[in-house]
Amino acid sequence: MWFCAQCQVKGCSKPLALGDNVVLPKGCPTLKLREGDIIGKYTSDPEEFNLARCSAICSPDHTEHRLAKTMRFAKMCGFDHLGLAFCNTLSKEAEAVAAVLVKNGFKLDSANCKVGRENREKLGAYTSKNPMCNPICQAELLNEAGTQLNIVLGLCVGHDSLFIKHSKAPVTVLACKDHVYDNAPLRVLEECEDCAFRELL
Ligand code: SF4
Repeated sequence: MWFCAQCQVKGCSKPLALGDNVVLPKGCPTLKLREGDIIGKYTSDPEEFNLARCSAICSPDHTEHRLAKTMRFAKMCGFDHLGLAFCNTLSKEAEAVAAVLVKNGFKLDSANCKVGRENREKLGAYTSKNPMCNPICQAELLNEAGTQLNIVLGLCVGHDSLFIKHSKAPVTVLACKDHVYDNAPLRVLEECEDCAFRELL
């Protein structure tokens, strides 16, 4: 069992200048991983090396908002054709994001979650009269368009799982859906200080 979320020392994150002088708890996965070839996992595939290298360069800059960083990352990777898979409830935001991406020189294909206008009752869901969300077809449309990086904007839990599973291009998430906390799911931790001690379901 891996227990990084509960680890109180986080020795793996300490500066490299400390060498081996860091505390790693018993059973720490770093002890196991350091026996193998970590970098080889990133260098054996040129596409993955490109993603890893560009994200390693982009991520330390904490002055950029996520939309700017997404574009910087895409440009650094050499991607000029992006996909946008968005939730219909965020149509206005999707239009605005699309305008920014196009203004910044990207070719863009976008797909609404309701694309196909299929009946959700066929999936055994009777909770709404609205068409079902269709993440597999969103992914297939962007695959067909040949996008190089797909951006998820507000897809629901589970729909995002299916979209990511079916997307041929790598996927990055610009925003994730939370109807209660205005698409900022971690706010639940601020507004519910004792939630770690409660069952939320
Ligand atoms: S890798 Fe080891 S040191 Fe780092 S958080 Fe996990 S258990 Fe802690």
